[in-house]
Amino acid sequence: MSDNVPYGLKVRGADEGAARRRVVESLEAVGLAGFGARRARRLSRGGKMTGRQTLREERTGMLTFEEAREAILARVSPLGTEAVPLADAAGRVLAGEVRSPWDLPPWDNSAMDGYAVRADDCRGSATLRISGYMAAGGPDAPKVTPGCAVKIMTGSPVPEGCDAVVPFEDAEERDGSVHVPAPVTPRAHIRFRAEDIPAGTVVVPEGTVLRPPEISMLASFGLATVSVYRRPRVAVLSTGDELVELGEPLDHGKIVNSNSHALAAAVAEAGGVPTLLGIARDDRESLRSKLSAGTSADVLVTSAGVSAGDRDFVRDALAELGVTPVFWKVLIKPGGPTAFGVRGGTAVFALPGNPVSSLITFEIFVRPAIRKMTGHSCPVKPAVKAILAESVKKKSGKTHFFRVTIETGEEGYVARTSGDQNTGILRSLVLADGIAVLPAERTAFAAGEKVDVLLLYR
Ligand code: AMP
Ligand code: MG
Repeated sequence: MSDNVPYGLKVRGADEGAARRRVVESLEAVGLAGFGARRARRLSRGGKMTGRQTLREERTGMLTFEEAREAILARVSPLGTEAVPLADAAGRVLAGEVRSPWDLPPWDNSAMDGYAVRADDCRGSATLRISGYMAAGGPDAPKVTPGCAVKIMTGSPVPEGCDAVVPFEDAEERDGSVHVPAPVTPRAHIRFRAEDIPAGTVVVPEGTVLRPPEISMLASFGLATVSVYRRPRVAVLSTGDELVELGEPLDHGKIVNSNSHALAAAVAEAGGVPTLLGIARDDRESLRSKLSAGTSADVLVTSAGVSAGDRDFVRDALAELGVTPVFWKVLIKPGGPTAFGVRGGTAVFALPGNPVSSLITFEIFVRPAIRKMTGHSCPVKPAVKAILAESVKKKSGKTHFFRVTIETGEEGYVARTSGDQNTGILRSLVLADGIAVLPAERTAFAAGEKVDVLLLYR
């Protein structure tokens, strides 16, 4: 049944599915489904839709937060792979598993600075003649014979014949001999060959983010280059007649284009490679030419011009460019007017213009897509549970994303509002440690209740 449903709409209940199909079919019947459909259809009728019609059609066709995220993830895949020097591999995602080419450690070696002994010689208190010396990386000492010990440094291969190491602090050296006062357990203070990793073991699985421990593992096996997934190239376009670039005069009515810089920073932080396409003006020609520059990227992210304003032409321009729409509004707040589509290998996100909304929708939609493209085995960054410090109320029907600070209390994370939640307030996002995800169907949350929080930028 779901095969019949275009645009990635996921059918939850039969009624809902039918309602959505009706909306989509009615648009298809006039050949106008997709980005700009509402506007085009309105124009084709030669009149305006009433507010009520618009609302009803959009509501029935709108995806929930979870559906929208699923619809995105279903349409993006890990990109190709490339070989990078290990020195540049931190934070990248490993393509293909790595197996250990040899045992680790490769030979039995001393875990302590001390004396390599035969445990048999040290059943009680014993005095042994020091017959050799071994430092890490130095030449081997001769075999340890009965009644003898070899002075040995940490990391040095243990000499033949010995089966334990006595640390300096448990022994006393005098006149070329060492006195060991207490019995020694066989195998004590020896790191045995392969005890960490036998040869042929999968040491870093496919899809693993290379953190310092994985880098350590790969370096331990001498790997100078590793195969990782390519980072997505993400083109960022701001749109709006009111925008000026950094350093340009701020005439009355103008604002600085902050979204390009914010989104570029978010792209880099999420593992993508940003390219700034600048500013497109609120006219079709400007949008068309700037947008087409982004179609060779893996991801195209635009901000603004996707609401219901008279000069919001982004959807139309994307449709003209051949972007296949997947959704054009989501049941979320902030960020409702977020659109997503695909064109060839490019995933296209049209985010709302408010700086807060664009960063929050980036976080919940663009980041998972970038993570999946980078080969990450877990595209959706896991949320943490946090206890609400205060009660919260919201309307039912949309998932709300609430800017919060996070403190560590006795029973775990505690979330508190970071300030005014209006989308025009950037300050509360600057102060936020995370965004609390308040489910669509709920309306009241009591203080003390646990909610999911997406930690921001860490
Ligand atoms: P729009 O979606 O075009 O109606 O824009 C919504 C709000 O976001 C308006 O107040 C815009 O001025 C603002 N805005 C749009 N683009 C940017 C941008 N690149 N940087 C900062 N603010 C923006
Ligand atoms: Mg605008």
